[in-house]
Amino acid sequence: MNIMSDIAPFRMFGNLYFVGSSRVSVHVIKTEEGLVVIDTGYPDMYEQIIESMKVMSLDPADICAIIHSHGHIDHTGTTLRLKEISGAKTYISRIDNDIVNGTLDLSWCKELGVENPGNFDCDVLIDDGDEFTFGTTKIRFKSAPGHTLGTLAIFAHLCENGEKIVAAMHGGAGLNTLNDEYIAANGLPSNLREIFRKSLHDLSTERVDLVLGNHPQQNDTAGKLQKVLSGEKITDRGEWQTFLKNTELSLDRLEARS
Ligand SMILES: [Zn+2]
Repeated sequence: MNIMSDIAPFRMFGNLYFVGSSRVSVHVIKTEEGLVVIDTGYPDMYEQIIESMKVMSLDPADICAIIHSHGHIDHTGTTLRLKEISGAKTYISRIDNDIVNGTLDLSWCKELGVENPGNFDCDVLIDDGDEFTFGTTKIRFKSAPGHTLGTLAIFAHLCENGEKIVAAMHGGAGLNTLNDEYIAANGLPSNLREIFRKSLHDLSTERVDLVLGNHPQQNDTAGKLQKVLSGEKITDRGEWQTFLKNTELSLDRLEARS
């Protein structure tokens, strides 16, 4: 079996690495306290993630924290196995913990045709505005409800050769859970699209230097890899605003069809 990713692992900026694939992003931040993993991919990505980390000289046994952008299976699939080999603490929003522990049947396993690797409770439950420090790296969270009610936007404060930046990920920009049928079938708030729109506006006040994709298509991760390989910068102050605007335009189109 070929376990190499179709997007080669690479160092994006400072201590931030991409170790996911074109299917879904997995990021690692190497801190003085250990490795912080952001999202863990589909269950069948375990070997690929381990291989990509090794290529980057990141020892999976050094993982100290596993952070989840939201509770869907394509972002939580290898968490239990990574925790088993490292003893890492797991983090998720208080709201989406009910998805990963099975209280709410909203894991998206059925829709993605994925066998659930097992329910679990996370060790640390995140609320809007929380921030955590791992060595010299600060990571902040804002709630960004819509894709799931507990989706988080994640802001990592990074430094490379004295240049300080904020790298940010919208933890769930997909509109697949925002149509009327899904909302009604799952007892979600009838104004969920309005909730999502408001959160996009709230996030637009943030100054972001580097956009991270929850899925690699969101931020052209493959294009960023090519830029890094040719020595170009991938920071861009305008990309966050463009991303939020384009997401809202997609929301407008969905609204018009509803
Ligand atoms: Zn999702």
